[in-house]
Amino acid sequence: LYVEQPLGEGQTVPLSREQAHYLFSVMRLGVGDPVGVFDGHTGEWLARIADAGKRDGALVCETRTKPLRLPPDLWLLFAPIKKARTDFIVEKAAEMGAARICPVQTDFTNAERIRRDRLQAHAVEAAEQCGGTFVPEVCDLQRLSDVLDAWPEGRRLMFCDEMLAGAGAALGDAARGPWAILIGPEGGFSDAERARLRSLPFAHPVSLGPRVLRADTAAVAALTVWQQALGD
Ligand code: SAM
Repeated sequence: LYVEQPLGEGQTVPLSREQAHYLFSVMRLGVGDPVGVFDGHTGEWLARIADAGKRDGALVCETRTKPLRLPPDLWLLFAPIKKARTDFIVEKAAEMGAARICPVQTDFTNAERIRRDRLQAHAVEAAEQCGGTFVPEVCDLQRLSDVLDAWPEGRRLMFCDEMLAGAGAALGDAARGPWAILIGPEGGFSDAERARLRSLPFAHPVSLGPRVLRADTAAVAALTVWQQALGD
C-alpha cells in the first residue's frame, strides 16, 4: 500500500476512505493484521492495522522489510492518445521502471489536456501491484518543443522513429546515465519535428523493427529495449 506521509518506526499512518475500503471490505483485514506499506522514499515497511472504521482507520508502522530501490534515471516522453491507451502507457511505464512519465504535445497530438491526478493514481496502483518501493512522477502536459528547448545537460534521448525501418542506432554501445525515451502520437512526428529530432546532438534515433507499432505497443517495446541494453 502506498502512503504519502514519510514512514518510520512507530509512526501512525491514517488511512484514506479508499484505503480503508480496500483493506477492510475488499481484503477483509482487521485490527492486528499486517500490511506492507511504502512511501516512495524509505523502502517498504511492515505495519499493523491499529484502527479499522467504516470510512477510515489507521496503521502503525513496525519495521523496514525492504530498502528503497530507485529505478534507473529514465524518463518516458509520449504523446497522449485515447484515454484507455494513455492509462495503459502510464501503468506499463511504472511497472517497467521509468522514473518520470511526461506526456508531451507534438504537432500531431490531439489531446489538449490530461488528467494528471488520474494518471498519477494509475502510476501508484502499478507500483503497488508490482511490489515497487518507488512511484514515478507523472508530469503535466508540456509541448515537446519546450521540453527540447530546456533539455537537461547530459541526458540522452532514445528517439523512436518508425521511418527508420529497422535502420536505427543500436543501444548496445550507448553510454549509461540519464536517458529519456520519446514515442510519437498515432499520426507520427511531423517532418519539421523529425528533422529537429534527428539533428539534436543528444538524440539517438532508434528503430523498433520494420513494423509500424501502435504508440502504446511502441512504448512497451522501447522500455524493454532500453532496460535490456542499459537498465539494471
Ligand atoms: N506515423 C505513423 C503512421 O501514421 O503510419 C504511425 C506512428 S506510430 C503509431 C506512433 C509512434 O510509435 C511513432 O511516432 C514512434 O515513436 C513509435 N513507433 C511505432 N513503430 C515504431 C518502429 N517500428 N520503430 C520505432 N518507433 C516506432
